[in-house]
Amino acid sequence: MIVILNSRVGEDSPETRTILEYLRAKPGITPKIHQVVGTQQVLTEIYLVGDTSILDKREIENLSGVKRVVRVSRSYAVLGRHAGDSRSYGFNYNGVTFDQDSLNIFAGLCAVDTPEHVEQMLKAVSRAGMVCTRMGAYKPRTNPYSFQGHGANCLPWVFELAGKHGIKVIAMEITHENHIEEINTALEQAGNPTGVMLQVGTRNTQNFELLKQCGRQGRHPVLLKRGFGITLEESLNAAEYLASEGNRKVVFCLRGMKTNMGDPHRNFVDFSHVPVIKRMTHMPVCIDPSHSVGTRDGSPDRLLDSFHVTAQGVIAGANMVLVDFHPNPPTALVDGPQALVLEELEFFLEDIRIARNAYLERNALARKFHEANPGPA
Ligand code: PEP
Ligand code: MN
Repeated sequence: MIVILNSRVGEDSPETRTILEYLRAKPGITPKIHQVVGTQQVLTEIYLVGDTSILDKREIENLSGVKRVVRVSRSYAVLGRHAGDSRSYGFNYNGVTFDQDSLNIFAGLCAVDTPEHVEQMLKAVSRAGMVCTRMGAYKPRTNPYSFQGHGANCLPWVFELAGKHGIKVIAMEITHENHIEEINTALEQAGNPTGVMLQVGTRNTQNFELLKQCGRQGRHPVLLKRGFGITLEESLNAAEYLASEGNRKVVFCLRGMKTNMGDPHRNFVDFSHVPVIKRMTHMPVCIDPSHSVGTRDGSPDRLLDSFHVTAQGVIAGANMVLVDFHPNPPTALVDGPQALVLEELEFFLEDIRIARNAYLERNALARKFHEANPGPA
């Protein structure tokens, strides 16, 4: 159950104290207070853990300061969409808005290699008018002898270069909670020139201790990759771990499922789930065409499969695209064969614009239909 307070009622107000006292007096009920920083306003919500069936919804709604009480119908209490649930969605991080209406492109290196490549990449990103990128410093590798990423050593110059090129948000995978501290230290030392979205990779989707640590720190948003071999429900529960620990700034990323049914793609592309996640939760949805397709193969129409699946995800309403580029893929230390080259960036972005406009048109068409036909769902 979620108790939503009026927008003027803050965490420390007398009304909140009275409401908490009332709730704490109920047997077996633990209230947890959350500040929801939306793009429009800050809301205070109280999440009730325990057997809430003993509670009288009306009685709580009559308490001073309470706007509404939502009975949680699914296990994704914080991130899920519930009946009659019109809470504000999305968040703003370092000047960039992430919600279910926006679209942000994160083109960048799968793995940081040299300062020259990072600079060439960031120049291309900022020349294209973008403020987000991806830069892998900690790489989880299948083979223990493969390059594991430069780790903390590269952070000072990566952050400095990002600041120089006006980058606001870098998606950066972490594989251990210590990496959060390393990132924070490097950001402080560089004078916070940029922001970091902590990426939890598909191999760590159910690393619950890592999720809890990412959830407890409220500073950085989290990009959670869907687990490649678990159900959607299990991956959404993993996202809920982040939120239940206090961090609601979560973007959910589809990156394909591991099965030979997807051959010849590296993974079976699952972007048809974009609208499903948006229906079931409040999370913005990201698609990762690079790790889904995993090749530079193209069709006779001269569009690469990765372009096609990106367009398919964007036309279905995706809110973020995470994509591998490299100035010189044959020299890339990780995932060179799937990287797009810098010369393709404008082409890729224009193709996305076409798909995005088609999505917006489809959206307007649906609105028109439902205004004229209020009956059908
Ligand atoms: C990545 O984005 O670099 C990555 C390793 O992705 P995934 O966790 O989806 O395999
Ligand atoms: Mn990769």
